[in-house]
Amino acid sequence: IKKINQLIQNNDPQNNYLIKTTLQTLHDPFEDEFNQYPIYKFENVKPGIRCTYCMNIIERSLENKQKMITCHNCYTTVSRKELILKTLEELLCIKGAPFTMREARKWCNGVHRNTLLYIMKGHFKVKLKNKTKVYYK
Ligand SMILES: [Zn+2]
Repeated sequence: IKKINQLIQNNDPQNNYLIKTTLQTLHDPFEDEFNQYPIYKFENVKPGIRCTYCMNIIERSLENKQKMITCHNCYTTVSRKELILKTLEELLCIKGAPFTMREARKWCNGVHRNTLLYIMKGHFKVKLKNKTKVYYK
């Protein structure tokens, strides 16, 4: 049923949502699984690093060596590490399942995997799922 996402990709997310929920209710045997993992919600959430105070998405890359990031909306300064950890916690919470490095990078404006691994060390656990490393708490 995951393939439905690919099948109905168009520019009308609200309509997609309707199609998907309709299809899901028709698939009663899978109901429990979907209640555990709200896939459609995860797909609809815009990825990105959010300011921990005003929740505004910080668009620019955090790839440089800058340790402190100032939000251009509320001018709060937060450490890059704290921003990234919050973003990954948010990703885990919204997805409702362990996330991959590819997803982590997407949510963190493409921050290098080594930087993410360094920051995640001691904060997230790692396990293998279908031969891919996934991260969780
Ligand atoms: Zn802010």
